[in-house]
Amino acid sequence: MLTGKSIVVIGGDARYIELMHQLVMSDASVFAVGYEEYQEKESEVQYVTIEDLNQEALDAVILPITGLDEAGFAEAHYAEKSPRVSSEWLNDLPENTLIFTGIRTQYLNDVTHENIVALFDRDDIAIYNSIPTAEGTVMLAIQYTPITIHNANVTILGFGRVGKSLVNAFQGLGANVSVAARKETDLARIFETRAKPLQLEQLSEEVRECDILINTIPTRIVTPEVIHNLSKSCLILDLASKPGGVDYRYAKKKGVKAILAPGLPGMVAPQTAGKILAQVIQTIIL
Ligand code: NAP
Repeated sequence: MLTGKSIVVIGGDARYIELMHQLVMSDASVFAVGYEEYQEKESEVQYVTIEDLNQEALDAVILPITGLDEAGFAEAHYAEKSPRVSSEWLNDLPENTLIFTGIRTQYLNDVTHENIVALFDRDDIAIYNSIPTAEGTVMLAIQYTPITIHNANVTILGFGRVGKSLVNAFQGLGANVSVAARKETDLARIFETRAKPLQLEQLSEEVRECDILINTIPTRIVTPEVIHNLSKSCLILDLASKPGGVDYRYAKKKGVKAILAPGLPGMVAPQTAGKILAQVIQTIIL
């Protein structure tokens, strides 16, 4: 339980509604900044501005999954204007206050407070989160192709936390799955899962029959050479963090549909994703 703990949530998306609900249920005092367009009537959450907060009393500050942008603004889906969190304000927080963020942006790298926890650097969060990510990817694949996933040729780039969940999801639906990775150990494990291992260097030669190409590698990996060999009917789903890993200019030129699909858990399963965050944040606070 979080009895006696004061927590402020600054900005966020639909996942944070469930997160705040869970924190209230754990008996924390919860403040929310950047929720002017939400404000549940019966909720115990106190809707405030940053200026209203008593910094000394805060046990935790929860920033959006996307962190803070280069000017210190917090993405806020329920406010017309994103709240700004200055680095001075963060640095002035008590030493023991925990600052949670999804990812550590450049702006946060320059904050000197020592208790910053980047949730998505943690394997447990990233693995739990890969489940709704894979489900969201299946949703997009169904939505944007005229074929069944069953028997479709699906190529997944990357065999990390998300890549592995994608293999399970698409194999479970009967797709012919290939996976490209750079480590020999990953290629061996891909073989063990009964997917077809692909060397990244041979990617452009291996995609000619591909129906759905899913990228999880956060670097420009889907190059013009790769896209050139794709059939026009192939769908590219780019899951890698912004700016993604696809040469969108060339995809457009070739007439191949390519979709950058960030934030799938928040889109398809905000409640589950919020619960995951709440569970891990509560464990860390305690
Ligand atoms: P991860 O566990 O770190 O896996 C990344 C994969 O990419 C690994 O196979 C890694 O190979 C490979 N890789 C990284 N850099 C590479 C390079 N320069 N060349 C070749 N391979 C490279 O990450 P993850 O948790 O699976 O997440 C993957 C991406 O999806 C991230 O950008 C993450 O932010 C994003 N994501 C998006 C959503 C969404 O909703 N769209 C949801 C969750 C995550 P090695 O192991 O050999 O380094």
